[in-house]
Amino acid sequence: MKNNMRFEFPAKSENEKFARTVCAAFVLELDPTVDEIDEIKTAVSEAVTNSIIHGYDGNEGTIEIEGDIDGREVVYVITDHGCGIRDVKQAMEPLFTGKPESERSGMGFSIMEAFMDDLKVESGVGVGTKITMKKRISDDGR
Ligand code: ATP
Ligand code: MG
Repeated sequence: MKNNMRFEFPAKSENEKFARTVCAAFVLELDPTVDEIDEIKTAVSEAVTNSIIHGYDGNEGTIEIEGDIDGREVVYVITDHGCGIRDVKQAMEPLFTGKPESERSGMGFSIMEAFMDDLKVESGVGVGTKITMKKRISDDGR
């Protein structure tokens, strides 16, 4: 089974639910469990929220999401053209947040890592950030 999709939307918090719902709908053909759907929604939500809050920091911008299915593996690529991340390794550490003054807990990347099988973060200061997350959908005779 191979499939792919691509969509983009303005970086506004109103669009976060829409984005995670589209990503979940894309994988339905693989007959995922409710838990797998929830994990994908949560991971996508964390990445999109990061682009809105950190990448664009309240300014206007566009977020692009590409999805790819190959066999039982689904890949989501979430891209923004915001401020970028200076130190990706530090940003991915649990509890690290670039916004300590707000109520952020610094757990977004840890949640993405926990819920997906593979997470890659590519970023350039002043260029933007690209998150690639993969998940294998179980096939236990359902
Ligand atoms: P939480 O997700 O728990 O609310 P958080 O967003 O600060 O808190 P992470 O999602 O783990 O924590 O992100 C860690 C840090 O990485 C952010 O505080 C921010 O500095 C940086 N970051 C993450 N995504 C982006 C992005 N798309 N653009 C710019 N900086 C980012
Ligand atoms: Mg976050």
